[in-house]
Amino acid sequence: MKKALIIGAGGVASVVVHKCCQHPDVFGEIMIASRTKSKCDALKEKLENTTKTKIQTAQVDADKVPELVALMKQFQPDICINVALPYQDLTIMDACLEYGVDYLDTANYEPLDTAKFEYKWQWAYRERFEKAGLTAVLGCGFDPGVTGVFSAYALKHHFDEINYIDILDCNGGDHGYPFATNFNPEINIREVSAKGSYIEDGKWVETEPMEIKREYNFDQVGMKDMYLLHHEELESLAINIPGIKRIRFFMTFGQSYLTHLKCLENVGMTSIEPIMYEGKEIVPLQFLKAVLPDPASLGPRTVGKTNIGNIFIGKKDGKEKHYYLYNVCDHQECYKEVGSQAVSYTTGVPAMIGAMMVLKGLWKKPGVFNVEEFDPDPFMEQLNLCGLPWKEDFNPVLVP
Ligand code: NDP
Repeated sequence: MKKALIIGAGGVASVVVHKCCQHPDVFGEIMIASRTKSKCDALKEKLENTTKTKIQTAQVDADKVPELVALMKQFQPDICINVALPYQDLTIMDACLEYGVDYLDTANYEPLDTAKFEYKWQWAYRERFEKAGLTAVLGCGFDPGVTGVFSAYALKHHFDEINYIDILDCNGGDHGYPFATNFNPEINIREVSAKGSYIEDGKWVETEPMEIKREYNFDQVGMKDMYLLHHEELESLAINIPGIKRIRFFMTFGQSYLTHLKCLENVGMTSIEPIMYEGKEIVPLQFLKAVLPDPASLGPRTVGKTNIGNIFIGKKDGKEKHYYLYNVCDHQECYKEVGSQAVSYTTGVPAMIGAMMVLKGLWKKPGVFNVEEFDPDPFMEQLNLCGLPWKEDFNPVLVP
């Protein structure tokens, strides 16, 4: 039985904690540590009488390496699961190196002052993790995360060479608010208001935000508008999946969401440039986050389904082959099981599975890795067992 230190106590962390508690044989003890200890305590109180997993809580500022190392020395974890915010990735990786423990996260590092998603900061830790004999698993949510595992699985079992990948992220859920984001509003808005981009013939092609729009008829959700976004797994998959000619990422958005976002953008509310307000410096986007609904509160009100997956085009035995791997997840089913909506669920379950892979020694090798660099099979098996079953389509409609 192993010990996991879980950093963060938000929407995704809550799912990770629930799912770890469903596997006490692997997660014998967990420590939930976050900035606001009361949120950790609330999770402990909800779960401690329902599981054999022993739960402890602590307050920690994950921007401070010495605080993290002190906590690790006290708890002695076998893995550190980072489900705080991307800004904390590097300090938590530093602490893992200093104490000597494996690391896993769900989103790549991003400096507070530039909305730029790149792996370069975390890939720069490769040699240090290798030398320390420690494993760091990057981006182990759904996208990035399962989308990388899907790619490794497709390559292993269905293709000699994959040439095109389209990742389609559809949220057909309705929370009834005129405007709310399904995960941390600051991170979400930074992501969708940035320029779009995709990789073609080894080069990044940049687009204006929301410039490329397509329609797609999603299984169990229906017809949706989707828009090409920059997304972090494009960077790693273009390197790790040989033979790739083009890789794109599309996310669905409703017209109301886009109209609200445009209006907020036009009045300067999505800016990350600090401004002075009544003698105090504030960041407009952080202020906006404070007035928007907390994503963790959307669970009870969200109905509908998500459908996220990858369409692959490649070659098998000299012939062109098409293959679509996806998961459909129901917001209300997630809420019934763990008290969260499907966006937190589809991120938290893969994070727990990734940690399980490392703790069981199945994904254990020294260095810093993206998920597609590990054996996909045991992870794919757990997806089916842990609430995110996948479906295959060998004749999918392609995205023009
Ligand atoms: P939330 O905002 O709900 O939760 C973030 C948590 O981190 C909060 O508990 C917050 O504390 C805590 N935190 C923030 N700063 C610190 C700090 N300095 N020290 C300690 N704790 C801190 O976010 P989500 O749960 O929605 O998202 C969590 C992560 O998951 C994000 O990195 C997000 O980008 C990623 N994600 C990944 C997806 C994927 O598919 N790969 C999809 C969705 C999200 P406090 O309560 O005090 O604010």
